[in-house]
Amino acid sequence: MQSVSEQIDAASALRIGLFGGTFDPPHVGHLVTAVNVRHALQLDVVVLMVANVPWQKVGSRPITSAQQRLAMVRAAVADVPGLLAGDHEIGHGGPSYTADTLEALTLEHPGASLFTIMGDDAAARFETWERYHDVAGTSTLVVVDRPGAPTTLSPSFVWERVEVPHLDVSSTDLRDRVRDGRPLDYLVTTPVLELISELGLYQEGG
Ligand code: ATP
Ligand code: MG
Repeated sequence: MQSVSEQIDAASALRIGLFGGTFDPPHVGHLVTAVNVRHALQLDVVVLMVANVPWQKVGSRPITSAQQRLAMVRAAVADVPGLLAGDHEIGHGGPSYTADTLEALTLEHPGASLFTIMGDDAAARFETWERYHDVAGTSTLVVVDRPGAPTTLSPSFVWERVEVPHLDVSSTDLRDRVRDGRPLDYLVTTPVLELISELGLYQEGG
């Protein structure tokens, strides 16, 4: 199998979107965001980058292993043109910081324009990120709205807003659904649904 880097080079990508997350599990809100931002900003690829250790979430709930979350993201983006599952943060190990990942992408793809994509809940907390000034300095900050109250974005940065359909779906709700035995159909893709059931994820706890 080609590495993610080889896949990006094969696409001669010059405009790369970095969409980081825990993806526990990946859902249609992530996919609709990724394809619409790719389209709106004419990005060559959007990399759904799987956090190795999502340090802001550790301790709040059990987190599915990074390899299992990567397997789900791979299943979600398989055959979707322009979307890739990123394993840089898993390869790097330890806590995952977007600033490091942007640095790695710059080394791999000198001259590429980088775009850091996030939902407005993540954007509202941007200044809690490790080295957020580096993130803003090395990439264009892209924000999409999620359902719910509008959030205030730090006026210290330039934000590129992209309009996407607001889908009221979250990984938290999906985990609750599995636990309660409610259906996940159409909220995640069929291959992801199959993996969740094969791996026996989210049956209890969290
Ligand atoms: P959790 O409920 O566990 O926090 P989540 O659904 O928020 O999961 P994350 O992996 O935390 O998913 O989010 C990764 C990125 O995707 C974040 O930038 C988040 O704002 C964004 N995102 C998540 N769900 C949506 C959605 N429905 N629409 C747009 N962006 C989303
Ligand atoms: Mg979240």
